Amino acid sequence: MNFLTLANLTEAVPTALPVASLGGLNDDALCAVSRQVEALGRLIDALRVATAGEIAARSRTEVGPAGLAARKGCRSANELLQRLTQVSSATGAARLGLAALTRPDTALSGAATPAKFDHVRAALEAGELGVDAAIALTKNLAPLQNGVHPDALDAAERELVAAATGSSPDSSVPASADEIRIQASVWRATLDPDGLEPDEAHTMAKRSFRFGPERNGLVPVSGGLLPEAAGRVKRLFDAYLTPTTAPAFLKDEELADKNAVKDPRTKDQQRHDILIGVLDAMARSGNTPTVGGAAPTVLVTVRAEDLDTGGAGYADGVESPLSPTTVQQMVCSGGTQKVLIGRNGRILRLASAERCFTAPQRRAITARDGGCLIPGCSIPAGWCEVHHVIPAAEGGPTHPDNGVLLCWFHHRTIDTSGWAIRMRAGAPEVQAPPWLDHTRRWRPATKSRTALATSVSHHGP
Ligand SMILES: [Zn+2]
Repeated sequence: MNFLTLANLTEAVPTALPVASLGGLNDDALCAVSRQVEALGRLIDALRVATAGEIAARSRTEVGPAGLAARKGCRSANELLQRLTQVSSATGAARLGLAALTRPDTALSGAATPAKFDHVRAALEAGELGVDAAIALTKNLAPLQNGVHPDALDAAERELVAAATGSSPDSSVPASADEIRIQASVWRATLDPDGLEPDEAHTMAKRSFRFGPERNGLVPVSGGLLPEAAGRVKRLFDAYLTPTTAPAFLKDEELADKNAVKDPRTKDQQRHDILIGVLDAMARSGNTPTVGGAAPTVLVTVRAEDLDTGGAGYADGVESPLSPTTVQQMVCSGGTQKVLIGRNGRILRLASAERCFTAPQRRAITARDGGCLIPGCSIPAGWCEVHHVIPAAEGGPTHPDNGVLLCWFHHRTIDTSGWAIRMRAGAPEVQAPPWLDHTRRWRPATKSRTALATSVSHHGP
């Protein structure tokens, strides 16, 4: 091994092809250069995968605390890889995954055994096969290792490598990684037609729910639910999506409410909001730790000077900062606790929780309001947040006379939606936005069926 050559290479590459020179190339030269750069990249990628594999082998759990990653203070080979190379955990996992399938192993006897996918390994090392194609190929064939005859699997691997490198008798044009993925899935279906049958053990093993990396302020979720689980979740959502059909026989007042039934949110947006309500309700119901009687579902930290002037906050487990609106909403329903931290990071003073409705207060408010106060909203009381009608920052007390139930969405949008809420002698009244009700009349609002029953019996025969 010659480290000097490797270092020279690192210096030679930018000299051989300065990025700024690309603009001066004609079309043919540009195409030729991108092929050459890729060929170089493939060799480098093979080394990236192989070094990852070597690190993994030296960090094996059998080795325990003597393992390389552990000795470097890392929990896993992937963590060490990230610290050494600054790649993302996804890239680290991809390299380690491919390395595990293409690294020659040592048997207990000490003899070397070929890699699980030895043709792929050879083509990678020769710089003929790219990582994308190698992953597409191995991902499709690896699940067949236990059920398909090794010779058949070996033949499939050879054919696919030949197709990817353009060395197949059928075609001298190398197939792209996407084409290899499709071809590999055809091989998989041919070699193991039963594998396509979704048997229970297989679907059980595949069940998943995962969070993707944060993008544009949103965290994507993906995965696969078992049908029975999906059924339960769907039923939950369906029950609380706002109805699109209004009930028949409406009185004038209800007719005004019917317009409010026109929810501006898409069904997808509503499902998102329902999920938050369900999770909050769950956090409140169980033995989750509480702050002054209300369960914190998320711990948000915000600088004291930002709290009332409207600054960003930070939530445990969320990468990007929370907007001032989000912070204010969470403070409104969740309360605050002041912590004074000294310059050296020591906690100097811990105040008691403030602005937080207690469990008995919440129960009383629930009995009075019965659910989200906004007409047409069907989110039940248990999933609602308690909103300070007069904000705590403006001196509004944390008292049932100043707290009303709003679902997460109506709470979030209360300052912008045009809906207004006021308290009259301790009872909430709601004013619809002007586009819904030009009379701008305040109406008493409640979803409490006991309260509604009382009003019915007063008007009854
Ligand atoms: Zn609502």
